Amino acid sequence: MKKVSILIPCYNEEQSLPMLYARLAELCRSLPQYDWEILLINDGSSDNTLAAIRQLRQQDKRVCYIDLSRNFGKECAMLAGFDHVTGDCVIILDADLQQPPESIPHMLELWEQGYEDVYARRLSRSGESWLRRKFSLWFYGLLQKFSKDDVLRNVGDFRLLDRKCIDALRQVREQERYTKGLFVWIGYRKIEVTYEQAERAVGKSSFSFLRLLNLAIDGITSFSTAPLRISTVIGLIVSLSALAYMLYVFVKTLVMGGDPVQGFPTLIIVMLFLGGVQLLSLGIIGEYLARIFNETKNRPVYLIREKAMNQE
Ligand code: UDP
Ligand code: MG
Repeated sequence: MKKVSILIPCYNEEQSLPMLYARLAELCRSLPQYDWEILLINDGSSDNTLAAIRQLRQQDKRVCYIDLSRNFGKECAMLAGFDHVTGDCVIILDADLQQPPESIPHMLELWEQGYEDVYARRLSRSGESWLRRKFSLWFYGLLQKFSKDDVLRNVGDFRLLDRKCIDALRQVREQERYTKGLFVWIGYRKIEVTYEQAERAVGKSSFSFLRLLNLAIDGITSFSTAPLRISTVIGLIVSLSALAYMLYVFVKTLVMGGDPVQGFPTLIIVMLFLGGVQLLSLGIIGEYLARIFNETKNRPVYLIREKAMNQE
């Protein structure tokens, strides 16, 4: 019998867990041909998520859990999950029921047909503000321009991955993880399904605008070195314009005679502009340097306090 794992990173989700479990139990009942495993990762929640998870495990031994030592963020929590799931495939689901477990049977069908990465694209993004929607669309556009790999718009972490993909992702141990990009990077046979995103069942999203912005910068810097090239290009343009201006001044002096001292505002503008460009370039280099710094420390991506799995 094939085993299907469901991986759910949880951060302060004590209220949504019972609802989520009810929906999943229903799903498992409707597909008895599979062996199920529900792996919950408690990502350092500050509420009673762990107690709720323990209670679920008491009711149902298919529920396994890993308790991380603190909040490492969803990306790291997912890696902890990839390291421990035992299924022949894994389905990554959010705990807040924004993604309908009812799409899973169709995803499994496609997996049975031989697809290794069945990703779900949301048709609507209900429960998200206009600004956030605009921002993420703009961000995906930017990322697509910057990187060679095509990070797909409106595709989140909700997907089914074959064992091959899980093993591939486990080999990628970088600290600054941008999993959406990694899914594309690993390749394998992909196919798309679509779903309607629901509102969050309870609670509120833990990704504030600032956190999303950080994720966006991480996404770009961990997937592309194009910003460095932009600095080079700007530098080149500025130098060439300076050269052209120099020639112009030279010729003008020869033909019309020299200028008396003038043009203080122009000087200031040029100085400020150049100062700005230089600081920006330094900042960009710094971003990459910081990443090198973090990666060379080579720390583990997550730490586990406690785990309850059915087989070791
Ligand atoms: N999550 C997590 N660690 C975090 C933040 C979020 O494991 O530091 C989980 C959260 O419990 C949920 C999923 O990641 O299952 C998506 O989070 P959320 O719903 O807050 O994000 P959104 O749907 O708004 O992108
Ligand atoms: Mg959500």
